[in-house]
Amino acid sequence: MNKAFKLIGFTLIFILVIYYLATLFVPKIIDKSHNKIRTNAPYQVSEKAQNLYNSLDFIADLHCDALLWKRNLLKDNDFGQVDIPKLLKSNVGIQSFTIVTKSPKGQNFDKNTGESDNITALYLVQGRPTNSLTKRTIYQCESLFEFGEDSNGKFRVISSGLEFKNYLSDRKQNKNITAGFLGVEGAHALDGNLKNVQVLFDNGVRMMAPTHFFDNKLGGSVHGISGAGLTEFGKEVIKKMIKLNMIIDIAHASPQIIDDILNITDRPIVSSHTGVKGTCDNVRNLSDKHLKAIANSGGLVGIAMFEQAVCGTDATATVKAIKYTSDLIGVDHVALGSDFDGSVTTPFDITGLPLIVEELLKLGFSEKEIKMIMGENVKLFLLNNLP
Ligand SMILES: [Zn+2]
Repeated sequence: MNKAFKLIGFTLIFILVIYYLATLFVPKIIDKSHNKIRTNAPYQVSEKAQNLYNSLDFIADLHCDALLWKRNLLKDNDFGQVDIPKLLKSNVGIQSFTIVTKSPKGQNFDKNTGESDNITALYLVQGRPTNSLTKRTIYQCESLFEFGEDSNGKFRVISSGLEFKNYLSDRKQNKNITAGFLGVEGAHALDGNLKNVQVLFDNGVRMMAPTHFFDNKLGGSVHGISGAGLTEFGKEVIKKMIKLNMIIDIAHASPQIIDDILNITDRPIVSSHTGVKGTCDNVRNLSDKHLKAIANSGGLVGIAMFEQAVCGTDATATVKAIKYTSDLIGVDHVALGSDFDGSVTTPFDITGLPLIVEELLKLGFSEKEIKMIMGENVKLFLLNNLP
């Protein structure tokens, strides 16, 4: 009997030690293999492009998933695509940090269900709480605020128009500060409970997309099965978001959901990270019709920086999509929406953004237009739309 207990005890301790060691080493291995960069920094651009980049007052990016990984964002990491030192080095004014809570096994662009999930195993090996999607979201919200607290004043999480205004005025005196705001990728993060819209809002979330890679209680994902529009629950969630002045992100939503949202509200809507069918015709990307509708709403289209969204592996492909979108709906509705650290391989990390300026110059964009695309449009949008 005694021997059996001893054996069980040793086995348990052995398992715990292995688990502990796994939480130390495995997350970094997974992070590195999911968020690769085609060309490592430093990046070479012409003097003209670099000077223009350096003169930009406000640079913004509408989408990155850096919080999903167990990475110290206060460190200038030698892997990954975004961290706070890199934001400072790149003179970025604001970065949106979006939260992924569930992603299907064998994730693809065409057909996924919500039956399986990769994030449970990822969270488990990261030593994070796996029990509820709302709790997973709150965990990532809290880590961003903690990075802010531990950054010696260099990084702020923006959650209101007033905070944003104060930040902008502080930044006029001191360029060596940067900021982020929180978004959610897929409102299954609500655990099916309308009350959790308020809970996520109270935890700092200011932007939310109804669906991610699979259909959920709100409606259909563009990568799901049903192609459905908003359910009654989905409509309630959108209405609650409008009440709270949360930004509605239609990235990954089924075309029918986009139409339904446009019917519910005339508030500005955004697509935080997308390509456009006009330069890269796939199911993920926005049609001309929806690009025009976003512009009509007074919203923004954040153009992504990875191959599957822009059908190319360099800055040229992203700028081609920017040019197409600007020509179609006007340059005042175009922004950057990289999808850095979103389990995609990008041409460069965030310090490579001057390469975008270089390509914009090549396509004949004026300095004023480049300023707008690189961040002024987002600045104006947040000033008008944050609660
Ligand atoms: Zn995404």
